[in-house]
Amino acid sequence: MAATALLSRHSSNPLEVSSSDTRNRAYLKELMHAQQMARPFGGDPQSSDDPLNDLNLPELERYHTHLAQLYPNAQTSAYQYGTSTSKAPAKDMDEDMFSDGDSDGEEMEQDQEEEEAEEDEGVDTDEELTIYLKSREEQAEIEEEIADLENAVPELTEDYKIIDRLGTGTFSAVYKAIDLGYHTKWHNAEWHGYHPPSSSAYYQSTPHPPGSKVFVAIKRIYVTSGPERIRNELMIMEDCRGCRHVSQLITAFRREDQVVAIMPYHKNDDFRQDYFRYLPLEGVKAYFRCMFRALRDIHIRGIIHRDVKPANFLFDPRTGVGTLCDFGLACRVERGQSLGSCLHTPPSREHPHGRLKPRTEYDIDHIKRMQKEGRIRSAGPSDKVGYPEKDTRPHSKANRAGTRGFRAPEVLLKCGEQTGAIDVWSAGVILLFFLTKKFPVFHSGDDTEALMEIATIIGRRKMEKTATLHSRLFQSNVPSLTQDGMSWREFVERQNPDLRIPPEPDYSYYPYTLPEYRQRARPPPSSSSCYSPGRSSPPPQAEPHAPSPTPSERDQYAAEIEHALDFLEKAMEPESIRRMTPRTALYHPFLREPGAPEDDECAPHPFGDGVCGHLHSIDDEEELCVKVRVEGCEELVERRVRAGEGIAIGRRPCEFHRDMPEFKQG
Ligand SMILES: [Zn+2]
Ligand SMILES: [Zn+2]
Repeated sequence: MAATALLSRHSSNPLEVSSSDTRNRAYLKELMHAQQMARPFGGDPQSSDDPLNDLNLPELERYHTHLAQLYPNAQTSAYQYGTSTSKAPAKDMDEDMFSDGDSDGEEMEQDQEEEEAEEDEGVDTDEELTIYLKSREEQAEIEEEIADLENAVPELTEDYKIIDRLGTGTFSAVYKAIDLGYHTKWHNAEWHGYHPPSSSAYYQSTPHPPGSKVFVAIKRIYVTSGPERIRNELMIMEDCRGCRHVSQLITAFRREDQVVAIMPYHKNDDFRQDYFRYLPLEGVKAYFRCMFRALRDIHIRGIIHRDVKPANFLFDPRTGVGTLCDFGLACRVERGQSLGSCLHTPPSREHPHGRLKPRTEYDIDHIKRMQKEGRIRSAGPSDKVGYPEKDTRPHSKANRAGTRGFRAPEVLLKCGEQTGAIDVWSAGVILLFFLTKKFPVFHSGDDTEALMEIATIIGRRKMEKTATLHSRLFQSNVPSLTQDGMSWREFVERQNPDLRIPPEPDYSYYPYTLPEYRQRARPPPSSSSCYSPGRSSPPPQAEPHAPSPTPSERDQYAAEIEHALDFLEKAMEPESIRRMTPRTALYHPFLREPGAPEDDECAPHPFGDGVCGHLHSIDDEEELCVKVRVEGCEELVERRVRAGEGIAIGRRPCEFHRDMPEFKQG
């Protein structure tokens, strides 16, 4: 897709024809009507075309409404359409912007320190004043940076009031700002999306109440980032519109060599400093439900994040809501194209992590000889630590982007056909932190050491098998490397002997922050149901002195830890083709939510998939199109839409097609 395609979708006229055009007016009316109908609020949330009608979800919806209120975009009765203009770039980003320069695919590490100030939930004014909680020197530095940004991109000040810095990294800095035009100027539907009340992403679709302050994150992407990478990041973010728990691109500006991207602001705490040791198990589940929903939704769109780590997952431990952000290293998977010498296939719809190639497609004798040779060499004198034997076949295409300590074995082995499985591994590493209560777990300085660290745990045999899968040879003469290693379960048990002891409820963290819990002193030890806390027996005492857990509560907690350990084993499966997919993860007992709809019901389809997919198409200029009914026309009329519009969710048609009789459920 050309850069112009990306930018044309930001044009001020969403319809690409004059707004005085009668067809356009009729369409707009139709569109607005469809969108009003499709809003998950302001009417009956369980409208007749909602296939989930037969499910009774009041508690779930109550919870999601509660979340939406915390966020601080509470429910409103009417959606603000304003003047229905899309946010236009300050200056069109054109091809020349991206024509030169080169991005280096190797070792692109980001070290983004998220800074977060202490404050109470849901209070807008506090959010506006966070800069004053920082040291005087830091304030001065931030103010200087803000002035510099406003000077470089003066158009920003018309629409945004920049008030603080959220973080800085190698390739960008992120600022907090107030969106001055949210209520009056912009058409916000394409980045809000249409997540239904039964979806955990409902808060994303909930507009901010009229008159409220709306915060955004402004990412200033440094010139050093390279034009190709900037374009890649913005285009991938556009493709991720409508994904759950994924940072949404509101718009992007370019002025000369300056590029800024505007995204919704998400409150978050520092993983290492603040919560990873104390978050209740139910909070950990909430963390990974959001994480794997985000991964499910981006992977189905053919996008790999490549840099999953705590700093890139904005998590609010008070609400249990997380957002995957920073797509600076993200890439697209190449489906069905085999260029590597791996023994596995590239990813496909049926096998998102690839699968073993048929025997006929590789030389088994060659592999056996390689392995034998490796074993002989490993038995030699220990003048070398373990290393993957250099393969003569080309692996130069292998993408190694990511962060040390989070790279999957296949990344370390320079697999030429990497899949979304690499993100699942990285998410598994985060679960390892939660379970061991240690961060970081891996300390290696380079890829070879990193492979050795993993091999020390999983054992020589498994590492050799993993290397073979990617046509690599693993050999090592390090004496501490055992043949069979241990399971991740054993590793966690060794690192954290208190693993199965239920912690005391910590009322600063989800789920104990929910109003239901605040009334009660003695919440259940973990929650198999965060949505129906009422089912636990009412506690006799108030915090902070909760009675010690009963034997059955201990058993329940231990059972949930078992689920977590089993989950970890499947997420950190060294062989990528056997690693669980995000969808499987969401159906695992560790993440499955009692009383909640199946994840399939809430998953947003890629544009053109889902029940109304046949009414969607992509035209010659790679623009997204839908066929809609237009007043006064017999036939359906094809119209262009913008990225983020026309997303069918579960069995629901998209917002353009909900009113069509053929999609109405009987
Ligand atoms: Zn491979
Ligand atoms: Zn549709």
